[in-house]
Amino acid sequence: MKKLIFALLCIVGVIACQHEEVFTPDELQAPSPMEAYMGNTDVKSTAQDFDLTPDALDEMNEILAMEGMEFRVLMAEYITANGSNEIGHTVIAKNVGNKQLGSDFVPNDARRGWSNPDVNAITYAIDQTIDAVPPFGNATAAETDAAIVRASDTWNALNCSNLNFTRNPDYGIDLGYVAAIYGYGGSFAVLADIHHAGWRDLVFAPGVLGVTFTFIWIDANGPTDIDGNGKNDVAFREIYYDPFWIWNVDGSHIDVETIALHELGHGLSQAHFGKVSIKKDGTFKASPRAVMNAVYFAPLTELQGTDIGGHCSIWGEWPHN
Ligand SMILES: [Zn+2]
Repeated sequence: MKKLIFALLCIVGVIACQHEEVFTPDELQAPSPMEAYMGNTDVKSTAQDFDLTPDALDEMNEILAMEGMEFRVLMAEYITANGSNEIGHTVIAKNVGNKQLGSDFVPNDARRGWSNPDVNAITYAIDQTIDAVPPFGNATAAETDAAIVRASDTWNALNCSNLNFTRNPDYGIDLGYVAAIYGYGGSFAVLADIHHAGWRDLVFAPGVLGVTFTFIWIDANGPTDIDGNGKNDVAFREIYYDPFWIWNVDGSHIDVETIALHELGHGLSQAHFGKVSIKKDGTFKASPRAVMNAVYFAPLTELQGTDIGGHCSIWGEWPHN
């Protein structure tokens, strides 16, 4: 039976055939190798309209320009599975100016009306529709929701910052601006600074577990920097979880809280951290270990030293940065 499964994976190609081993049940419960995480390869092979490339981001921006929107997508940051032959990256749109600069939220920014700028909150909303249920794994919508809330609370609990990281209502809307652009469900509603847009909207490149898109404000002159801090002003960010993998909340397979914590790091303006190198067996190692490593190794729901340092350097002075 295992051989049959392996042969089927090989037909779909690319990833699976690079690993010749047949795994024992014990190994299948380990957090790696990558085959143990895989859900249904059909999900990956049937929708390849969207890829995480600068060209794809540029196309999205052309659509936003045609629609007269006052924001553009600046970048997409993604995390990959250990052993996938792919290390997480930051993909930057080519057709947006100031692309070498960082980006962050501006305090008291009236343009982010969904966050009631008077209270200087950074807000998030979680998709509660069918998108909230990973297609493979045992996690329910309520459990993935709780895992994302725990991850949010973990960042919010850091006492170096007065960041008021709070949840906005989702009104039962199928969140997903990027998804809506590409016709994979979602909607054009922006309900919070950070959207968790679910598991079913988009299909990404092999190895990708999750991605955060950053949208920045523009005016007639291009990207804005109204607080003059040398960074692009973030409009909102949007997080997706790849439906290809087996997701769980019990520490097995791909751990929802761990990936949510990582993506929320991007949501709160952190970049990847740590040197990821490849080992002889084709898997990766990272040093130092951090939630913000670009590769998923195992559940990690406590922020590490560099995660905390990065967060505090960005948010320590909020709302006075
Ligand atoms: Zn990442």
